[in-house]
Amino acid sequence: MGVRIPNSELVKRIIFYSMKRRGIVHTQDELAEIVRRELKKLNKKFTITPHRARKIALRIENMEVTVKTKKSKKTRPKKCPVCESKLSPIYAKNLLDKKITIGFRCKICGYHADEKFFTPMKYEFKLLKK
Ligand SMILES: [Zn+2]
Repeated sequence: MGVRIPNSELVKRIIFYSMKRRGIVHTQDELAEIVRRELKKLNKKFTITPHRARKIALRIENMEVTVKTKKSKKTRPKKCPVCESKLSPIYAKNLLDKKITIGFRCKICGYHADEKFFTPMKYEFKLLKK
């Protein structure tokens, strides 16, 4: 046994045709599951991670990917849980070039945490019709 990694072009084609049928997929896990099902028909050893499926989906023309943040019960930390210093936000740009907080870092002790630890992310995929 073992696994085989399908090439990007194949995955891209599978995503494209699946999306043409479905129009919309609500999470990257769901997307990976759809791709995996198709891949297994070709080779039982093929596998793909949700992360890779999302990255390949992004390269498809007319594919719209939206990131939604689910409301989290956990609140953002105000202080470093290790040394109780002030935490600084870590910024990055999202797909729409907007500045978003992706995590927190403590400048004193080096503690850091992902924003997604506090705010779960949800990706939605939509194939736009021309
Ligand atoms: Zn600290």
